[in-house]
Order: sequence, then structure tokens, then C-alpha cells
Amino acid sequence: MKKALLLIALITMALTSCKQKVKNDNPLLNEFDTPFGVPPFELIKAKHFIPAYLKGFEEQKAEIKAIINNPEEPDFENTIKMLAYNGELLNKVGRVFGSLNSAHTNDSLQAINREIAPIASRHRDDINLNDTLFQRVKSVYDNRDKFKLTDVEKKLLDDTYKEFVRSGAALSPEDKEKLRKINEELSKLQVQFGQNLLAETNGFKLILVKKEDLSGLPEGVIEQAAAMAKSLKMEGKWVFTLQVPSMTPFLQYSDRRDLREKLFTGYFMKGDNDNEFDNKAIIARIARLRTERSKLLGYDSFASYALERNMAKTPEKVFEFLGQVWEAALPVAKAEAGAQQELINQEGGKFMLQPWDWWYYTEKIKKARYDLDDEITRPYFKIDNVMEGMFYVANRLYGLTFTKRDDIPKYHPDVNTFEVTRDGKHVGILMIDNYPRPSKRGGAWCGTFRSQKRDINGKMVYPVVTMVTNSTLPTSDKPSLLTATEAETLFHEFGHALHSLLSDITYPGNSVPRDFVELPSQIMEHWVLEPEVLKVYAKHYQTGEIIPQEIVDKLEKANKFNMGFITVEYLAASLLDMEYHAVKEPSDLDIRDFENKTMEKYGLIPEIKPRYRSTYFNHIWGGGYSAGYYSYMWCEILDSDAFQAFRETGDIFNREVASRFEKEILSKGGSRDALEMYIAFRGKEPGIEALLENRGLK
Ligand SMILES: [Zn+2]
Repeated sequence: MKKALLLIALITMALTSCKQKVKNDNPLLNEFDTPFGVPPFELIKAKHFIPAYLKGFEEQKAEIKAIINNPEEPDFENTIKMLAYNGELLNKVGRVFGSLNSAHTNDSLQAINREIAPIASRHRDDINLNDTLFQRVKSVYDNRDKFKLTDVEKKLLDDTYKEFVRSGAALSPEDKEKLRKINEELSKLQVQFGQNLLAETNGFKLILVKKEDLSGLPEGVIEQAAAMAKSLKMEGKWVFTLQVPSMTPFLQYSDRRDLREKLFTGYFMKGDNDNEFDNKAIIARIARLRTERSKLLGYDSFASYALERNMAKTPEKVFEFLGQVWEAALPVAKAEAGAQQELINQEGGKFMLQPWDWWYYTEKIKKARYDLDDEITRPYFKIDNVMEGMFYVANRLYGLTFTKRDDIPKYHPDVNTFEVTRDGKHVGILMIDNYPRPSKRGGAWCGTFRSQKRDINGKMVYPVVTMVTNSTLPTSDKPSLLTATEAETLFHEFGHALHSLLSDITYPGNSVPRDFVELPSQIMEHWVLEPEVLKVYAKHYQTGEIIPQEIVDKLEKANKFNMGFITVEYLAASLLDMEYHAVKEPSDLDIRDFENKTMEKYGLIPEIKPRYRSTYFNHIWGGGYSAGYYSYMWCEILDSDAFQAFRETGDIFNREVASRFEKEILSKGGSRDALEMYIAFRGKEPGIEALLENRGLK
């Protein structure tokens, strides 16, 4: 009740202050008067978001009203196009808020997120469930053959109509009311899930005080842990966190089995500690509500609902695909576990291999077999050099140039900003934010503060793209030196960034299917360890010496090492995602039990945990990968095959293939059917062979 009053007060304030002044004192409500229209981060304060959101809701409501009240017969121009362009202020505010809340949050932003999520859910439903509006859209859709529409316009019409139906526009008034309640509750639960996860990730620290606790750790890893302790005002100690760049090296090198167990247990119990941040009840509720909502909309499960608009189309198809790779990968993972147990036995260790041992023994075997470990390659993967490498690849393929700019607002000192140009012409802005901090959620992602499009008058709007990673931190005397995997992650996110930067669409509004969107990102991973590319960027951070051929050869040989594990831990998470979302009857799941039974059903070996356990699986509970985590591997079919198109020419920088990839795929966004795009690029559908070969599972 109190909140409602506050909101009314805020709405009134927002409306009146707008009337009184031309230039608003809320920077979010003004045109961004900055180079390239980047958000003026130094002016934007937490207090600006709620009034800006409320103004955004108001504006969009007025725009929708204008579409509905148009006395003319509904057509593409006055209905579908107007819908594609409505809600611009809300979109602008939402992008700034969403990016900051993920990459640099604080208590105020988290409180705003909790407050805004249900209001935004109601607002969306007011539009999606508005029958008068839907009847206009339906009228255009039903009469689509009468209008002379281009293919792009047809796709936009089709997507718009189907999204209305998928959002419940065709339901009875009673069912619409049920749907609204479900959506609102879901919006709150998803926010809560993410906030719990951040609290749990930041809440655990392995604090070491004795030198003997550091046994086995390379000097660089120890320095990292000392720097972490210092930043936490624990000088003289060593701290390891649940952030991957801190945790993984400890698991790889620490001789202290008890401490490895402690750290890894801290990781895989995130959100499952029966404390105030426990996520089990939240997940069970989300799963139940998603099933209920899907039933209401006429689907037999959430997976059927979600997959309908993906390339895969049905849960059966996804299960079949995952099953095929699982069959190939599980025996390989079992053999890997066997080799580790053998080593344990040889060393006289009288214990069975456990999940917290896997990285340690894998590292030993890798060292013995290939004389290679991350510490040998790190000096050649200085983060600035790796970024130079990815810029080089984008230049060779697409003719893009990246120029660092220091005159552009940033939301954190760690952000590096680049202007992207081609033949001297502006293409867009790219911000890169690489280091972990408590205000950033885990993982790596790419987003936009502004997406490319033509505005309603046809004028080009250039993209402002942001890519965020959690890479190894620099220390007082060393720059950030990456593992090969981290370098690959940078190339991956950069691939998403290129997809946004090279977008050349007219209308906003079509989304790219989840199981296609990883093609542009994953294809970039193929270049990172190519000898031709390594020669350009992989230079020793102290001597400038190019990575020796001998190490390149070793990297190449070790390329498929541990692939059983990598594939199985990923597939286990994908199967878990699919099983949660393929449930056909709404039920209150016991999360631990469901997870255990699912893994038993597929025969996951106890030495391996799923890549994400349920309680910290942000992709599917908080992010947009629900019944979609399979997409990475699905897209690997595409990216392995697409990279072959370069290989077949004998030139991994073939400009003709690159420009076809840009023209048929990168530039198109979601304005064309995904499979059509792929076939236009490649001339045929891809098969699973390139993927299995790529992973050495054939
Ligand atoms: Zn990705």
C-alpha cells in the first residue's frame, strides 16, 4: 500500500517535472548528449531509474493508445511498423539499467530491480493481452496477402502476430488473468534467484594464512591470491574466491586435497545451503509456474513452448541430439576418469577420484603427456595482446578497425572503449569490461546499450555494444595473463559483439533464435589458436618474443584433451535444463532429488558434476536460456561446419567467404529464418560430423 502511494507520487513528479522544463534534470529522459550517444554514466544515479521507467511506461501506453485509436483500417504501416518502433524510451532505460545491474550492481540497483520487475511484467501484459490491439494485429496477419510486403516485412508481421499469441492474446479473459498472476510472480522469482546467487558467490572465501597451504600453486596463482587478500584488506594472507579465474587454478594445482574439496564444495553448493539465500524453493516454484503457463497457452510443456521458435522446434529433437553426443562422450569421460584413478593408485593415494580432484589430475596427465600447462602459455596471452589478436582477425575478415577512445563516458574504470570503423566510416562503439568484482555477476556476456536499426524515418542508428568477462586480474607487478580458455572466451564474446556491430537491419523487433545466436560467437573461437593468428598476437609479455612453434604444436596436440569431461559436464547441465522444462504436469519438485534422479537416469559418473547445478544455473532460471542451454552445442554443428567453409578455401581469412558470412548471417539479425540464412551462406544444411570431429569424439 505504501509502495503504491510512493509510485503515484513518483509518477506525478515525473510528469510535472517534464512539463516544466525543456531539458530534464533526469539524464535518462534527455537525448544522450555525449560522443556517439553513449549513456552519460557519470550523470546517471540510481534515483533516476524509477522515474525514468515510469515515464517509459507512460509513453509506451500513449503510443499503444495511438495505434489502437487510429481510425484507418489496420495495415503494416499503421500497426506492425508502429509496434516495432514503440516503447523507445522504455527500451533505452531498460538497456542502461540491465547492463549496469549485471556488470556493476549495488544495493540500490538491486532494490530497484525488485521493485520494477513486477511493474514491468504488468505493463508488458497490459500490451500483450490488449484485445483491441491484438485484433488489429490479427487483421493485418489474416489479410497479409492483400498487402505488398517485402520478405523482411512478412517476417516482422509473422513474428509480431505469433508473439502476441504466444503471450496469451488469444486466451479467454479468465485465463488472461491467471497468466498475469503467473508472469508477475515469475518476474519477482527470477530477480530473487539472481540476487541470491550473487550473495552466495560473494559470500564464500577460502582464506589461507600458512605457507604450507599453498603447496603446489604456481607463483602467479599465489600472487593473484595475495592481491585478492590485499583488495579485501587482509594483507599477508591469500584468498581464493568462487570466481572461475580464482577457483580453477587452485583446483588445478593445489596439492592440498582437503582444501580443494573445501573450495569446490563451496562452489557446487551455491544456493543450496539452506540459508536465507537458498534457491531451491525459488527454482521449484519457477519450474511449476512455467509449466502452468505453458499449459494455459496450449503447450504440453515449457520446453515445447520455448522450442517452437527455435531451429530445433521440438523437445524430442533436442533430446535426440543431446543423446547422440552423450553416447559418444560418456565412454571418453569414463576412460579419462580411469586414467586419473590409475595415476592416484600409482602415487599410492588410497582414495577414489572425486569431483574436486578432476582438475588436479587432469593437469598432471596433461603435463606428462604434452609437457604443457596453463602457466607455460599464460605469459603469451597478455589480455591486451589477445584483444589485439581478435581485432586483427576482425580486420582481416571484415575490414574493421578498432580505435581506443578515452573521451567516452564509462560506468567503471575497468571499461575500455573503442570506436569501430570501416573504410574510415563509423560502424559502432564497443566497450570491453574484463575483470571480476563483487558488483559483477559471474560468467561472460555481450549486450547493447543501443542496437543497430533504421529509425522510423529510415535514418541509420549505430550500435553501442558492451562485452563483459570475468578474466584473470592483473597484479601489482604483472598484467592480466590469460589461460587459453580465457582467450577463447574473449573471442567468443567478441563474436557476439561483431554480430551486433555488423547488423544491418531496418526494423527493430525480430529476435534471433536462441539456438542460432551462438553461431557468430562460437565461430570466432576457431581463430584463437590458429598458428597464423597466434603469430600475430601471442607475444611474451616481458620479452615480446612470439610464442615458440614448439608450444603452438603442443597446444594443437592437446586441443582435444579432456574433451570427454568438457562435453559430459556441459551435456549434464543441458539435460538437466531440458528435463526441468519437459515436465508435463505442474508439480512441486524436490530440487535435490530431481537433480540426482536425472543424473542417475543418464548415468552421469559421480566424479563429474554438471557444469551448473540447479541452484546456480543462472542461464536457465535468471537468463534467457530456459530449455535453451543445449544451444551452445547445437550451434557447434553450425560453427564447425561454417569454419570448414573458410578451411576449404585454404585461407582462414578468405574475404569472399567472410563477406558472405557477413551478408547472409551477421547483417541479418533475426529478420530472416535461421536455417534459410545458414543455407544461403553454406549452400547446404550442416551435419553432426564436423562437431564430433571437432571434439575428437568420432
Ligand atoms: Zn555466447
